[in-house]
Amino acid sequence: MQYKVTVVGAGNVGATTAQRIAEAELADVVMVDVLADLATGKALDMMEAAPVLGFNARIEGGGDYAPTAGSDICVVTSGLARKPGMSRDDLVAKNTEIIREVTTQLVKYSPDTIIIMVTNPLDAMCEVARRVSGFPRERLIGMAGVLDAARMRWFIADALKASVEDVDAFVLGGHGDTMVPLPRYATVNGIPLPQLLAADTIEAINTRTRNGGAEIVNYYKQGSAYYAPSASVLDMVAAILHDKKKILPCAVYLEGEYGLKNLFVGVPAVLGRKGMERVIELELSDDEKAQLQKSADAVADLVKSLPSF
Ligand code: NAD
Repeated sequence: MQYKVTVVGAGNVGATTAQRIAEAELADVVMVDVLADLATGKALDMMEAAPVLGFNARIEGGGDYAPTAGSDICVVTSGLARKPGMSRDDLVAKNTEIIREVTTQLVKYSPDTIIIMVTNPLDAMCEVARRVSGFPRERLIGMAGVLDAARMRWFIADALKASVEDVDAFVLGGHGDTMVPLPRYATVNGIPLPQLLAADTIEAINTRTRNGGAEIVNYYKQGSAYYAPSASVLDMVAAILHDKKKILPCAVYLEGEYGLKNLFVGVPAVLGRKGMERVIELELSDDEKAQLQKSADAVADLVKSLPSF
């Protein structure tokens, strides 16, 4: 393959992401995990599917970072996932340690790579990776908005019995309970959502979107979502490698956009070969602005609680 993508963490999200990237023949994949044999075994298992499915990408796995050298993109999924009753923020101390260690290794072997952070609490882990890597914001992007918007899109499609292909939606803000679904910017084949669904139905969809992660955690009991998260990472990887200039909601280090500075917050951004190429500033109502500010304040509080390093 022309490209190489490293996926750190061969757990639920990491392994499914590796599988999706290889099956789509987007890139060769290197999976790294502290559980080296788990990564090696899953990579071998996936390669043994290749003759049946007919994909030509290579997947290798292990505990060593040397094979990751020169990766075009590094997807970071290593760390603890939520269990029922836990918020994403409960993961902060342990996952900070893991992200520090992992980012140091990735940057050593792939100084020019683009990092897509997945580990929770997402916005805070992006900040940890930024401090360790020193990367410009173009090359350090968080995955959350694509997933949150995908959940909202599914709930809208299901409510209207419409094709998922016709439904677009945006979710802004931090990847937590304060995220901001934007039904005003949701459309079904160009038709604004408020013309198709009653206000109380839309409000119920907003609430279910905010709780979408917890809804899955409550079913799984032992872990959190991974099918939709890995599909969302795939969308970002494809947009970057194929230089699509696709507008996707991503966690981006803001430098004054939306009146916010020096903080990772979910906003619509253009993804292309250089990574996060441009932030799109939507016009927001006073209420939407207030919700976004509240969400950004929650991210800022969490960042303040990060252990110093
Ligand atoms: P998982 O437990 O299935 O997998 C995590 C993997 O990370 C494990 O295999 C573990 O061995 C590995 N790991 C731990 N420490 C490591 C280290 N130092 N180096 C390399 N590997 C290490 O969990 P999962 O379901 O795959 O979730 C992974 C992370 O992604 C969690 O933090 C979860 O909350 C987050 N997540 C985020 C989103 C999002 O929208 N951003 C969505 C889903 C999950």
